[in-house]
Formats: sequence, structure tokens, C-alpha cells
Amino acid sequence: MKPFLLIISAPTGAGKTTIAKALADARPESVAFSISATTRDPRPGEQDGRDYFFLRKPDFEHRRARGDFLEWAEYSGNLYGTLLSEVDRITSSGRHVLLDIEVQGARKIRERRHDLVSIFVLPPSVAVLLERLKGRGEVPPKELRSRLQRAVEEFQAAAEYDYIVVNDDRDQAIRDVASVLDAENLRGERVLAAQQLREELQRVASQMSA
Ligand code: 5GP
Repeated sequence: MKPFLLIISAPTGAGKTTIAKALADARPESVAFSISATTRDPRPGEQDGRDYFFLRKPDFEHRRARGDFLEWAEYSGNLYGTLLSEVDRITSSGRHVLLDIEVQGARKIRERRHDLVSIFVLPPSVAVLLERLKGRGEVPPKELRSRLQRAVEEFQAAAEYDYIVVNDDRDQAIRDVASVLDAENLRGERVLAAQQLREELQRVASQMSA
């Protein structure tokens, strides 16, 4: 299995983080969640080194200048970035790298790498999106407004993605994302298997003609 980057993006409140984490839990042997760095404050229950690497802004900027990030982006006034060390840690274990990132970061990765598969998660309706956002009591109103504005822009980016998953039913959405992973695994395996068979056939053919 050749590891690839599996990017999952969505407008805020579409439920993508839950889906991404559930997929990593369901397929620990084939996929692992890339822990991003961010300058935003931890939310209640979040842990440094598990949910994010929480960095102070100068530390983030220092690491960015040093070239530690595969990509980075600003979102609602905070910086977020994918650490190259995370991508290496996961690919060197032979697993796919699951990236829960916003659309600008996904664009930057598309410019740099070809070994990626991207999925955009949509909420089933605007009403559900708003309900989910309001349920997150910890997001202050000013940030909520800015996240909604950002969501409008992010919907436009959906067409840039390889797959769209509608998160109406959480378990079904997790199954859909897992199906994409399985299908893409077959794509990689098919190329490898065909190559191995061709090489073997060539050996057999050359022995026959000798
Ligand atoms: P939140 O603050 O709600 O955890 O995340 C805000 C947004 O930042 C989400 O859309 C999330 O996918 C995105 N994000 C998280 N980590 C990264 C990252 O490493 N790079 C980029 N570009 N976006 C990220």
C-alpha cells in the first residue's frame, strides 16, 4: 500500500472533525490523523499533542520561517499548519495521512503534491449547519459571524475536491469516507499488482524464448 494524503475539508459545523477522527479510530492500521499546529486557544477538553499542537504565535512564526510546515493558513484570526514531521511520522509507518484542514491549505498541498485524495464534507442543510454551530456554545458571537462568512467562501471550493460526502447521518458519512479510502487503496494496489504481474510475465516470456 502506497501511503497518500487524505484531505478532508468542510465549512465549519459540517461535522468533519468527528468524521475524520472516527475514520482514524476505525482504520488504525491504514490511516492516522495528522495533528496540526495552531495559535488558537485550546477549547474545553482539547489536549496539546492530541487535538493540536498549541503554539504561541512567535513559536508558530519561527517554525514557519524554518520551513517546518507542508502548508499553513490563517483562519478566523488564528494560524493553522500541517507539520512536515507529522506527515513523515505517519507515512514512514506505511499509513495514509488524514488531514483535517481548510480549503486554502488544501489548495497549497495540491500545488506541491500529487499523492493526495480530497473529500469535501457538506452539511445536509443550512438549518442543520446553523443548529450545529449554535450547539458549540464555546464559539463567541464575533467568531461565529466570521466563521459563517468563511463558510460561504468555502462552499465555493467544494468543486475542487475529488469527492463530496453529505453529513446527514454521521455513521453513513463515516462509511462513505471509508468507502473512498477503500476504493483509493484499490487504485494504488491495482497499479502495483499490474506492474508485478507484467514483470513476472516478462521473465516467463524471456525464459521461453531462450
Ligand atoms: P478549529 O479551530 O475549529 O479546530 O479549526 C478551524 C479550521 O482550521 C477548520 O476548518 C480546520 O479544518 C482547519 N485546520 C485545522 N488544522 C489545519 C491545518 O493544519 N492547516 C490548515 N490549512 N487548516 C487547518
